[in-house]
Amino acid sequence: MESQACVSLPVVRIQRFSTGDGPGVRTTVFLQGCPLSCVWCHNPETQSAQPVLLTDPASCIGCGACIAVCPAGARRWGTDGAPAFDRAVCRACGACDGVCPTGACELSAHAMTVEEILRLVLRDAPFFGEHGGVTLSGGEPLFHPGSLALLEALRAAGLHVAVETSGAVPRSRMVAAAPLADLWLYDIKDTDPPRLRAMTGADAGHILDNLAVCDTHTAGRIRLRCILVRGVNHTPAHWQAVAALSRRLLHCDGVELLPYHAFAGSKSLRLGRPDISRPDWIPSPADIAEAKRLLRSAGASVLE
Ligand code: SF4
Ligand code: SF4
Ligand code: SF4
Repeated sequence: MESQACVSLPVVRIQRFSTGDGPGVRTTVFLQGCPLSCVWCHNPETQSAQPVLLTDPASCIGCGACIAVCPAGARRWGTDGAPAFDRAVCRACGACDGVCPTGACELSAHAMTVEEILRLVLRDAPFFGEHGGVTLSGGEPLFHPGSLALLEALRAAGLHVAVETSGAVPRSRMVAAAPLADLWLYDIKDTDPPRLRAMTGADAGHILDNLAVCDTHTAGRIRLRCILVRGVNHTPAHWQAVAALSRRLLHCDGVELLPYHAFAGSKSLRLGRPDISRPDWIPSPADIAEAKRLLRSAGASVLE
């Protein structure tokens, strides 16, 4: 039987000294893979279950190193004499990433064992202080079954553990994971089921069932994290529904607003997709103040 420490996960990056992913100073581990496809996703490279290649022709110096090592013929000389890329035959092996001198070919994630991740996180433990710790993010950090082994290892190391989740995971995984985190940063992207389905692919009933499961099985806190998308979910009915959800939770830590931003465009282009960022969705300060007012007037505790 495979040791839990040897379980491997696709790690997008490990961000040290983060102050925006939970309380205190934190180390955030971003994992590849997400079952959703939010229109506003700011990490679109993490949606695929397995790593994908990001390319940036503007950074390419035409050295040809990627072409020499590519086993699939996905990197090759184009008819214009410049390196070309055929994503359809790319095996995401990462060989080009290993030799590219400029970062013009970059694999979105690399496999790491639980033991390797833990070792890197523990380097930062002296900086966590009283409130900090480690946060698992993504993608959907519970997407891979091996995430449970990582949670258990972090817990056994005595670290404060936060998990950012969309809730779009199998119920059994949420049952197993809920007791293993101190803080859940639980996305409530929209409370209107058809709109949620259209904008993210998520099933509202499933997300809310898992929220109840998390609330039942955790001994930690649950913070509802709500993206605010102007012209999409910024409605009185939505904020009143979020407030009602927060009031029903046994372990509610409050509601946190996440204003939409349009930063994902360059990543979409590096994935060979069009830039679908929407500057008109960015909420104004007045929109944010109004959402907070609606939440508070409906009984929610809004975190600043
Ligand atoms: S990731 Fe591998 S298969 Fe894909 S382009 Fe690079 S070297 Fe070729
Ligand atoms: S290795 Fe990098 S810089 Fe060289 S040709 Fe390939 S993508 Fe361009
Ligand atoms: S849940 Fe997060 S990672 Fe997944 S598609 Fe939505 S925004 Fe992107």
